[in-house]
Amino acid sequence: MIEEKVLSSEVLMGKEDKYGAHNYHPLPVVLSKGEGAIVWDVEGKQYYDFLSAYSAVNQGHCHPRILDALKEQADKLTLTSRAFYNDRLGIYEQYMSEYFGYDKILPINTGVEAVETALKLCRKWAYVKKGVESNKAKIIFASGNFHGRTLGVISASVDPDSTTDFGPYMPGYQIIPYNDLDALEEALNDPNVAGFIVEPIQGEAGVFVPHDGYLKGASELCKKYNALFIADEVQTGIARTGKLICCEHENVRPDILVLGKALSGGVLPVSAVLADDDIMLCIKPGEHGSTFGGNPLACVVAMAALDVIKDEQLAQNAYKLGTLFRERMQVLVNKSDLVTLVRGRGLLNAIVINDTEESKTAWNICIKLRDNGLLAKPTHGNIIRFAPPLVMTEEQILECCDIIENTILNFKQ
Ligand code: PLP
Repeated sequence: MIEEKVLSSEVLMGKEDKYGAHNYHPLPVVLSKGEGAIVWDVEGKQYYDFLSAYSAVNQGHCHPRILDALKEQADKLTLTSRAFYNDRLGIYEQYMSEYFGYDKILPINTGVEAVETALKLCRKWAYVKKGVESNKAKIIFASGNFHGRTLGVISASVDPDSTTDFGPYMPGYQIIPYNDLDALEEALNDPNVAGFIVEPIQGEAGVFVPHDGYLKGASELCKKYNALFIADEVQTGIARTGKLICCEHENVRPDILVLGKALSGGVLPVSAVLADDDIMLCIKPGEHGSTFGGNPLACVVAMAALDVIKDEQLAQNAYKLGTLFRERMQVLVNKSDLVTLVRGRGLLNAIVINDTEESKTAWNICIKLRDNGLLAKPTHGNIIRFAPPLVMTEEQILECCDIIENTILNFKQ
């Protein structure tokens, strides 16, 4: 039986180290409670959360409306599988279809499963609708992508940590540079291309924002060459960048929209693929699925989580606070030799530290930020991502800017 008594951070970290696989390298802090934008460690120290579980907790930790929905449904019915109908799924599917403006949704669980679903759907469409010869379909990816960790998805990665010693890789992929419409057009000029999948901002790569017009241009090129434009909005979606989905910044409607993370406000793994009938109905019964996909618990949690986004105007808040945050970080860039630039959209931002990717500087800054009550983590060595819950207030974000500024201005190697 697991001990009930409160254990120290050190003891708990030791247990993870001894009994858990070493597939993560967490910042040394052990959290036991969260509320809104704030989390507490087991010793009771309070922090601002500037990662939001990689943008899954956009609605803030333990949002009472989402938790109430979870608890109420948990007492009634949690899982039926798709062998039977359940009384929540159809209601959720209608809700999602109207909320995001697509004919249909395919409900699934994690982000990477949703990406895999989109890729399968894209291939199926290419054979059934576009007339690509069997087993010849190609999907185009952008270099620097992060779409998750399955074999199918890491096959498109250029990050050696994701790929080394995990081969052989999936055929039928082509990787082109990100933010390069000429390269995209050249790749699309092949009748076997089924689609192009892209993150509207590359989050894991270090919050790379493409040039204005890239998404619009990419979606128009896909139309021109009869290929599907697939937006992986697992990280950028659900209000994070100041719009409901990031593609809205350029008035782009993806042919296939992939969502995850904040779809449940960080309460359960809930993800989704949205498309119109012409595409979605290419997949027939028995051709794709998941035991947990579309479970009634997930359905009510996701509806509550999306109600919160609208009712609390979180996209608008992310837009406003993000502008403020980047203004303050720009002042820091001007003052400090340690920070070379700030970039991002809404509340998905990053600063770049003036050091090599291999250096420990960004990690050590994150340790100091932790000591000063703010949790963030480097991504790719010298980049620190800042992505707080979207429920943050203006007063809180200004206090956080003070913490970041003081930490960096007083930082010594
Ligand atoms: N796609 C993008 C853009 C992501 O950022 C992530 C995770 O960070 C994923 C897919 C994978 O999501 P999950 O970790 O839920 O499988």
